Amino acid sequence: MRIVLLGAPGSGKGTQAQRLAERSGIPQISTGDLLRAAVARGSELGLKAKAAMDSGLLVDDSLVLGMIRERLAEPDARAGFILDGFPRNLVQAAALDGLLAELKQPLDVVVQFEVDPAELVRRISGRRTCADCGRVFNVLTSPPPTGAAAVCPKTGAPHRLMQRPDDNEATVAERLRVYAEKTQPLIAFYRSRGLLRVIDAQGELDAVTQRLARALAAPPGVRPPRSATKRVSGRKPARARGRRRPAARAPKPRSTRKKAPGRARKKRARKPAARRPTRR
Ligand code: AMP
Repeated sequence: MRIVLLGAPGSGKGTQAQRLAERSGIPQISTGDLLRAAVARGSELGLKAKAAMDSGLLVDDSLVLGMIRERLAEPDARAGFILDGFPRNLVQAAALDGLLAELKQPLDVVVQFEVDPAELVRRISGRRTCADCGRVFNVLTSPPPTGAAAVCPKTGAPHRLMQRPDDNEATVAERLRVYAEKTQPLIAFYRSRGLLRVIDAQGELDAVTQRLARALAAPPGVRPPRSATKRVSGRKPARARGRRRPAARAPKPRSTRKKAPGRARKKRARKPAARRPTRR
């Protein structure tokens, strides 16, 4: 399957992408991870990307597109991929469309993760990554396991938890602003292509994993089950913000479907006119 996970920083895309990759065997492709690796190697790409990353801005499209083109050409991506953090703006989305059309491998689905802004900030402040295996934990919501399961699969030693340098307060605010300005328009872009599914990405990690699985299993054009689109507090459900589906409404009982008799209808139609103020 060819999947894009869309969501603000801290919405849990990376964690869910890792889980999905482990379960499905298709690779997670995170442009953030690829860029951080380039910075750590001190490569030319890393040096060019570092300043934008440190200040919470997007790295130049041409750098990211070159990197993604190379990554998608690798053999493991032929079976499918989970794009995490890419595309990040309309230019990247259009370029991805073109690239996948060339490869004759169009996207199957785009899943948008919905999380309240206050929760995003809380999650980011607790986020830690193992410096050795790259696994993402959250000291507040999903700390690393204890006991035998606590060891890093790369080193066999306990995970070495590090906080990302761009997970500080000032940079997070900028990243959220950039998300709203540059990335959020992709929601309408993919909705108009019939590829978008929306999940409530708050709550228990396992519950979100289940919602994601249900959203991915729903055939195209079919709304995911109710529980996958549960209302996020204070916001209208994604369904209500998008197109309505009148067919989903239960038919009215026959007796109430009858048309009102002619007189009553005329009376109702006249009512607003009668309320109009009379000119003097
Ligand atoms: P992430 O790990 O996805 O939060 O990305 C960390 C940082 O890497 C972002 O704040 C950007 O500076 C940069 N980055 C990641 N993906 C992209 C992308 N698709 N386009 C531009 N910049 C990106």
